[in-house]
Amino acid sequence: MNLTRDTFCSFCGTAYEAPLAYPRTCASCKTQVWANPIPVSLVLVPVVKDGKTGLLVIRRGIQPGKDKLALVGGFLEDHETWAEGGAREILEETNVTVDAKTLTTFWFTSTTPRPNRVLLFSVAAPLDASALGPYTGDAETLERGLVFGPGGLDEVFAFPLHVEAAKRFFAERSLTGAHGYVQV
Ligand SMILES: [Zn+2]
Repeated sequence: MNLTRDTFCSFCGTAYEAPLAYPRTCASCKTQVWANPIPVSLVLVPVVKDGKTGLLVIRRGIQPGKDKLALVGGFLEDHETWAEGGAREILEETNVTVDAKTLTTFWFTSTTPRPNRVLLFSVAAPLDASALGPYTGDAETLERGLVFGPGGLDEVFAFPLHVEAAKRFFAERSLTGAHGYVQV
């Protein structure tokens, strides 16, 4: 069974001719198919704990980056704005409720070496750690926690672009020092 995507035209069923590059044009109905980069909504959620501002993170239970930390977020559904999708992912991954209307744009970038994802980073309104509510991990998300500074994030984070976003956040607020991960 050939599991390669877009082997056949989804409009008329004709097999595409080699080479299977994008964009490709159906020889029969002439419809073109494209492979566009996919947006990913990621939210930096500031959480104040013991007077220090940290960022909400999760420990991944699945690959890629299994057992490492990541900012909260994910793919959008086709009825969602980037903000609605970001707020949904925060709730799903951390059981924290954030109003999508309070998210503000922060930074966007493309993945490397393949620019097939566009990462849309936003920032939430600060929360107090006492307002986070209960949390139990699952197979996809093992822990919920906070990081408080840029030091050592490269070693503990799964994705270099999440490190870059977190470093930008801490630099803007002149927050320095070790990440000091704690579970919350
Ligand atoms: Zn066709």
